[in-house]
Amino acid sequence: MYSPVYLSNECQNVCTYCGFSMKNKIRRRILSDDEIMKEVEFIKSKGYDHLLLVTGESYGRVGVDYLENAIKLVKPYFSNISIEVQPLQQNEYERLIELGLYAVLVYQETYHRQEYKKHHPKGRKANFDYRVETPDRLGRAGIHKIGIGALLGLEDWRADGFYTALHLRYLQKHYWKTKYSISFPRLRPFSGGIEPKVEMTDRDLVQLICAFRLLDEDVELSISTRENQIFRDNIVNLGVTSMSAESKTNPGGYAVEPESLEQFEISDDRTTEEITGMLQNNGLEVVWKDWEYFA
Ligand code: SF4
Repeated sequence: MYSPVYLSNECQNVCTYCGFSMKNKIRRRILSDDEIMKEVEFIKSKGYDHLLLVTGESYGRVGVDYLENAIKLVKPYFSNISIEVQPLQQNEYERLIELGLYAVLVYQETYHRQEYKKHHPKGRKANFDYRVETPDRLGRAGIHKIGIGALLGLEDWRADGFYTALHLRYLQKHYWKTKYSISFPRLRPFSGGIEPKVEMTDRDLVQLICAFRLLDEDVELSISTRENQIFRDNIVNLGVTSMSAESKTNPGGYAVEPESLEQFEISDDRTTEEITGMLQNNGLEVVWKDWEYFA
C-alpha cells in the first residue's frame, strides 16, 4: 500500500482533463518545508512506509531543486520514495536517485499521437516524443522502478492498453535491471472537465487488468482510489498488487488545508484501516514496506 502527497498544484501545461490545468482559475499552492513535514507526519501516523510525492508540472518554482529538497526532508522517515512529477532530464534523475529516490511514475496519457495533441495543446507536455522517451531517460539513469500507463478514456482503451504493453516489453528488454509498474487510471470528473471519448466499463477494466497479469506475472499492477469501493474490493484477487488508500489529491489535503481544490474526485474514501481490513478479509497479507501485498 502507498499514499500520495501532493506538494504543489502549480502547472505550466494545458491538459483538457485535469483540474490543475494552467487555464483553470484556481488558487495555486506550493507546500513549504513545514507544510511538507505536516503532511508526511499524517501519512506516517497511518503506518505507511512508502510515500509518493506528486506535483503539477512547473519547471521553475517546483523544479529539480525543490524536489531534491523535498526528498531530503522526507527520506529519513520512509523506506521508499517515489515521485510523479514533470519529466526530467537524465542528469536530474541521477541527482534524485543519488538522494534515495526509488521509483518514478510517468504516464503517457494516450499513445495515440493525434489524440495526444488534442488534449495537450500548450506547455512542454505538448511534446509527445519528449514524454514518451522519459522512461528511457529513467532507465539510463538507473532508477529502481518505472511506472507507466495511459489515462483510460482519452482514446479506445484497447489501443492504449496494447501500446502500454508494447512500451513495457520494450523497456524490459532495454533496461532489464529496472522493475516496472502499470497503473490503470480511468478518466474521473473534475470541475469543468471533459467526457471520455470511449467509455470503459468495469468489465472492460477487469479484462485489461487480467490481460496484463497474463502477459507478465511479475509486473506490479496498481489501482488507485479513483475506482470505487465495490470495484476495488473485487479486483484485489484478480492480479492487482498495489493500492492507495485515503488519498487526497490537493496540496496540503491531509493536514494543512483539507478543503482546497482536488485534481480529480476520488471514488473510494475509506480510511487506511478500512482498506487494510478489507485486504485481510480477502486473505491477503498487507505489506507496507515493499508496497505490495500477496496471498
Ligand atoms: S495532468 Fe499534470 S501536466 Fe496536465 S494539467 Fe494536470 S498536473 Fe498539469
